[in-house]
Amino acid sequence: MDNLTAITVARGDGIGPEIMDATLAVLDAAGARIKPEFIEIGESQYLAGYSSGISQQAWDSLRRTKVFLKAPITTPQGGGFKSLNVTIRKTLGLYANIRPCVSYAPFVQTLHPKMDVVIVRENEEDLYAGIEHRQTDDVYQCLKLITRPGCERIIRYAFEYAQNHGRQHVTCMTKDNIMKMTDGLFHKVFDEIAKQYPAITTHHMIIDIGAARLATRPEQFDVIVTPNLYGDIISDIAAELTGSVGLAPSANIGEHCAMFEAIHGSAPDIAGQGIANPSGLLLASVLMLVHIGQPAVAQAIHNAWLCAIEDGIHSAELHHAQSQRIAVGTQAFAQAVIDRLGQQPKHFTPVYYSGSPASNGSETTVSANSSPSELLFKSPKADKKMVGVDVFVHASDTSADFLAGQLSALTTSAFELQMITNRGVKVWPAGFAETFCTDHWRCRFAAPGTNTITHTDIIHLLEALTARGIDVIKTENLCTFDGERGYALGQGQ
Ligand code: NAD
Repeated sequence: MDNLTAITVARGDGIGPEIMDATLAVLDAAGARIKPEFIEIGESQYLAGYSSGISQQAWDSLRRTKVFLKAPITTPQGGGFKSLNVTIRKTLGLYANIRPCVSYAPFVQTLHPKMDVVIVRENEEDLYAGIEHRQTDDVYQCLKLITRPGCERIIRYAFEYAQNHGRQHVTCMTKDNIMKMTDGLFHKVFDEIAKQYPAITTHHMIIDIGAARLATRPEQFDVIVTPNLYGDIISDIAAELTGSVGLAPSANIGEHCAMFEAIHGSAPDIAGQGIANPSGLLLASVLMLVHIGQPAVAQAIHNAWLCAIEDGIHSAELHHAQSQRIAVGTQAFAQAVIDRLGQQPKHFTPVYYSGSPASNGSETTVSANSSPSELLFKSPKADKKMVGVDVFVHASDTSADFLAGQLSALTTSAFELQMITNRGVKVWPAGFAETFCTDHWRCRFAAPGTNTITHTDIIHLLEALTARGIDVIKTENLCTFDGERGYALGQGQ
């Protein structure tokens, strides 16, 4: 029996093979005890007919090793191809995406020399559910799904991460002034969980001012936790602020598997030139080594990398006209790191990783099963009552008043037509002539008074609508949960 840890490795597309070869060369020279299983994913697999960009053998390897070192891949534009990155994260349950973004001034030019931010991005939900529909000639829809267990898991992860890594402050960023139910839930759960970590200070910011402040005063942030889309965007901004998107690693952590990658993409504009910065993937491999219980090797590589940066060695995208430093290619940069293995940085504080196996120590995992009393993953069953239905209708060349006339005539004893909105804004009753309307109408039918309705009532309503030639796109039930409204009002309602 050898003592090598099997890991799955994908060399990826674009600059992927170049930066992966550089990374594996450093891992080999540093004595990482790993046994790579190479898989093909991405562009070649899409073209080979795997519409998801990954074969069954590749899945088998990932499920066997549970550790994935992945170079970036190219997602073909359009053509119905789903993003393989999102598919892998979700299929393997990698709910937490950890993106440390650190400045290396004065050796890497940046406007923000004191920046040291960790972005904890929710990795499975939000608009990345990928549930999209074309509903009318004019209107396309993407569903934003935010769940209580998803919020609890990522937010607890952020607090556990802060606690385990000696960080003092966690900022939550959402857009809950607009999305009061989805982002509102994320914010609410953040406030609930924050109470359980009194030693950590907290703050909530609306994402727009939060992103602006991150861009201008990043030194004010420590750990940031945020839903998927905002996290995706602000982590690229944060990495670029440190000097280059090519510097930042990311760890995608789940209950059973973990994936380590650079945050950047396959950079087709510089592929094949041997000039890409391998640092993002190399630092991701450092996170992987800590995860698989090889902290000493991780530490040696990280410190050697800091030495190379201190010695002024860097890749082309970090170079600038006044630079006194040495721009080198991808392999030469890797060799510079190899040459410094065993050395300690003099300017930067040397990195220390505590000797711990994957499931404890500096590695943060949050299990849905580990402590049910503390982790509120199962929402208590609420008293749910159906009080109405939103019927979405495709109708061109019409007006809100005309449509309301047609629909009011159909109203049964179970319902009354309460309002019509177009793109969310109320256009009936008492709409404004100034409001621009598309061919997509939401017609809200509500039970009168405190009455409730049944699914059969909705079926009868739909039968009556379709009998009149009305093109129903979909319905959404309107429910209360323990008496609390489970749906948003129309804008202007
Ligand atoms: P990108 O990150 O590939 O490139 C953006 C810019 O940054 C380019 O100018 C590029 O040259 C530069 N850059 C990126 N990494 C660099 C590095 N290591 N060294 C030096 N410069 C670097 O983003 P993009 O151009 O929007 O996307 C290209 C492809 O990558 C797309 O198909 C996209 O879907 C895919 N992508 C994949 C991943 C992933 O696999 N995790 C992530 C993001 C994008």
